[in-house]
Amino acid sequence: MTDLMVAVDGPAGTGKSTVSRGLARALRARYLDTGAMYRIVTLAALRAGVDLADADAVAATAAAAELAVGYDPDEDCSYLDGEDVSTEIRGDAVTKAVSAVSAVPAVRTRLVDVQRALAAGEGSVVVEGRDIGTVVLPDADVKIFLTASAEVRARRRNEQNKAAGLADDYEAVLADVKRRDHLDSTRAVSPLRPADDAVVVDTSAMTQPEVIEHLKRLVLERAGAQR
Ligand code: C5P
Repeated sequence: MTDLMVAVDGPAGTGKSTVSRGLARALRARYLDTGAMYRIVTLAALRAGVDLADADAVAATAAAAELAVGYDPDEDCSYLDGEDVSTEIRGDAVTKAVSAVSAVPAVRTRLVDVQRALAAGEGSVVVEGRDIGTVVLPDADVKIFLTASAEVRARRRNEQNKAAGLADDYEAVLADVKRRDHLDSTRAVSPLRPADDAVVVDTSAMTQPEVIEHLKRLVLERAGAQR
């Protein structure tokens, strides 16, 4: 197979991360988690105690932070200034703060540059995020935009909450999903939307193995068409 760049975008709750990793494995491609990069910068800002409303201070932290991520779909490898922060970046503190940090234009400019350089390495690559098909890799060979109804995404998140011992409040989770959909799709910088040439895949009624199989077929068809 020729080397391919595959962009996978979409909101949380669509199974995007599991599906992107599975697709990378199925294609024997590298995997790049761009959300992890926003999380690393967010951790740097939290550790430095900067005011997240101060865009200049957040941008300065992003510029100074030395960040690194791995390409292995089976292993999370995220480093900040040489320290393995793979677990810490998934914690509550970072999850709550990451939207504010990722809305700072200078942070996005720096990370998009790094993402393009990493994606350009040797071999095929599956790049997962929110703006990959629209901004980071507008020339990607295949662009996939995963969706699922707000109700399905809320149900999935509520199940995760319950499994983690948190409150069972589906209506509140659904309201939060709808609120964030609105914010994400209407924000000024890199709003979440499918690229014009993206294939939109609704995962509401599909299992994750079914989605991976479907995407693999899509990518291989596209690879065949390019030969
Ligand atoms: O994918 P994940 O949930 O780890 O992403 C964390 C956050 O990083 C998202 O909620 C979003 O605010 C931001 N993000 C982004 N652009 C990307 C990837 C992630 O703004 N390409």
